[in-house]
Amino acid sequence: MKPTRAVLLVRISYRKPEDDVEETGVEGEGKRRRAEFSKGIGRQEDDGRALAERLGWQIAEVIPEDDTSAFKRRKIKLPDGTSALRTVRPGFRRALELLASGEADGLMADDLDRVARDPRDLEDLIDVVESRRPRIPVESVTGSLRLDNDANITMARVMVAVANKSSRDTARRVTRKHEELAAEGKPGGGGFRGYGYTADGHEPVEAEAAIVREIGARVLGEWDGWTEEQRAKIVPEVGESLNSIAADLVRRRVPTVTGKPWGSRSIRSVVTKPSVAGLRAYKGEVVGKAVWPPIIPVETWERICARLAGRARNVDLTLQRWLTGVLRCSLCGRMLMGWQGTGGVRYWCATPQGGCGKIAVNAAFVENEVERQVLELLSKPAVLEQLRHVADTETSADARAELVEDEAQLKQMAGMWARREITFAEYTEARRIVEARVKESRALIHSRAPRVLRALLEGDVTDGWGRLTPAERRDVVLALVPGYDVLPHDRSYGNKFNPGRLVPLG
Ligand SMILES: [Zn+2]
Repeated sequence: MKPTRAVLLVRISYRKPEDDVEETGVEGEGKRRRAEFSKGIGRQEDDGRALAERLGWQIAEVIPEDDTSAFKRRKIKLPDGTSALRTVRPGFRRALELLASGEADGLMADDLDRVARDPRDLEDLIDVVESRRPRIPVESVTGSLRLDNDANITMARVMVAVANKSSRDTARRVTRKHEELAAEGKPGGGGFRGYGYTADGHEPVEAEAAIVREIGARVLGEWDGWTEEQRAKIVPEVGESLNSIAADLVRRRVPTVTGKPWGSRSIRSVVTKPSVAGLRAYKGEVVGKAVWPPIIPVETWERICARLAGRARNVDLTLQRWLTGVLRCSLCGRMLMGWQGTGGVRYWCATPQGGCGKIAVNAAFVENEVERQVLELLSKPAVLEQLRHVADTETSADARAELVEDEAQLKQMAGMWARREITFAEYTEARRIVEARVKESRALIHSRAPRVLRALLEGDVTDGWGRLTPAERRDVVLALVPGYDVLPHDRSYGNKFNPGRLVPLG
């Protein structure tokens, strides 16, 4: 059965004119090449049409695709209606839709790497191809793309995995460069070095490191430099405000990197950037351990970040009101916030924060009820056993470093199999093991709970609970339940709190 409505996918690949000059050494050549740029697509189309004629296919549509966003990911809708993170490729996605809907009955492209550079794209294509009996025919001019039987599909998977690895290696090199720049405080070159480290970003500057540690201790309410009078004003669970710390550093004439005076923003930034904990970050995400030594231990740094994040949500009240982020409005779906109003302290679907304002619940009542439920859960041996198992596993920082390694290993194994250094059976078995580990690391990374849980489970649980900070209580609650929906107040209960208003989120 020969396709009568096939899609021809041609890929636009931009190249910089300078590259052309470098390549040819002839001035003006870049310009000529640019003029030839549209011919590049034309040539792909000619080649595709010639092959179609040879095979007896009819091309119904030519879809050009822009290559510039090859590794940017975004949430998109898959042909089966679900959504997932994928490389942004509108042309490729349109081709898949045409094939899935039956509007097109064959796919032709220049080369395999023009069709699927990301293994996930290839899997989506395979799903569509295999959704019909017989399979939807796929052909490429270079002959590299064949999905007509299981062996060819397996080969395509390995080739894409290997091609993807080399692209990712490039991406990783670029990433690493950016991480280093970010750690030095020089995004995209220029600018200032990061506070606390030398200009190459690898050695701590001791005087500055001491200030970073001091700021951290003051935020955590654990500094030993306060006078008795100052200390009396500080609630350990809240710590000192950023403005107050900034004012003190200005008064002491502690220099900044830029020469601008300290402010709450610069105070926050020097103490929350991952580099001070010896972590590598890229685009705000920690990606692993850094080559430089930490100024603050990772666990302390995590506590500082958590505390400042808590403050940002609703000033100090959030720190005390540990169910902020746990309770959800059953009417509009927003999270309730700790709120001081005329009716006392409540959790409220706060209108100033965009909520509907219709759900409010007395803070003490609801906290007592959730505390009761948590302690009851923690008194069950089976629950404790399960939590101990979770808490015993590595911390999320280690999990992150492991994840980076495991993902690199997956790519390596595909390469080893492609080079016939291991058998297919060995490859699939090894892949199964590593993939299971990747899944586990991901789950751990998503939860900050293991550290808090470990501390809690070390001793008497009820005792330990009483000593937890509000932020830690929130972590424990969220490790046990995803949260609660709060139903409207039923007037027949009068002023009494009805625990039935709390519905655990599935
Ligand atoms: Zn609401």
